[in-house]
Amino acid sequence: MYIFRKARQLQNWLHQQRQRGKTLGFVPTMGALHPGHISLIRRCQQENDCCCCSIFVNPTQFNDAADLHAYPRTPERDVELLTSAACDVLFWPEVEEMYPEGTTHLTSFDLAPLDTMLEGLSRPGHFQGVANVVDRLLRIIEPERIYLGQKDYQQVKVIERLIALQNYTTQVVMCATVREADGLAYSSRNVRLSPEQRVHAAEIWIALQQVSREGRSKSMADLQRQAIHRLQGLPETRVDYLAFCDAETFAPLQQWPEDRPVVCVVAVWMGGVRLLDNVVIS
Ligand code: AMP
Repeated sequence: MYIFRKARQLQNWLHQQRQRGKTLGFVPTMGALHPGHISLIRRCQQENDCCCCSIFVNPTQFNDAADLHAYPRTPERDVELLTSAACDVLFWPEVEEMYPEGTTHLTSFDLAPLDTMLEGLSRPGHFQGVANVVDRLLRIIEPERIYLGQKDYQQVKVIERLIALQNYTTQVVMCATVREADGLAYSSRNVRLSPEQRVHAAEIWIALQQVSREGRSKSMADLQRQAIHRLQGLPETRVDYLAFCDAETFAPLQQWPEDRPVVCVVAVWMGGVRLLDNVVIS
């Protein structure tokens, strides 16, 4: 696997691949790789001649300095995992490479209302930071396709919006959430759970599955109350939000629409760790 720390070097290499007629898929990550990330790499390889992964812990999407500091970093292991997955190229820039003019002068993208609802409301500035870094990465890499995890559903919607605003031709491929044996969605943050919290964290997916099973037979308000009650009963647990949105437009919903899929999104604090998950109900 080729590893480039400078955008210019990566672009030179990518240019050579394009001249050979190769198609390019891109998997952006913040490292601390797990099977969820690797599933994106695999899908990317199936659908493109060349697979480019990036590892960049993007400071502008952290609204909490302590969270940025505590974010797990396992670079040697990441390189091993990507090499054994036969990823073609890794872009692993320093902060100065991505933000040569500093991290305070960001472009303001029109993400409304995505950046001020649910995840955006709880983490002010988060999605502007995500949009800024993905915009820079897409400008550098210019992939045919970008591979994103369903686990971060609202983020997928933000990146779709960014691509439309910037008239990029990159196609978004949303990939299914990969789960541990007990159903907990893989996340780089899971390693920060205590053994007790880790056991209780499995309840998030159990609660979502119940929502999905009961679906349209109950009102959204009842399903929401029931799931929040179940999760808040766990020790050290606080539900930040549990809400229903149109799976395509991400418009918030109070009632079941006819003939449109719905996504139930949840954010849960377990001690000091914030976990996200969702389920799509057709
Ligand atoms: P992150 O490194 O957490 O920024 O995630 C990088 C990409 O991997 C994002 O598109 C995530 O949505 C995706 N991802 C994270 N966890 C999972 C998972 N458990 N299953 C599938 N994709 C995931």
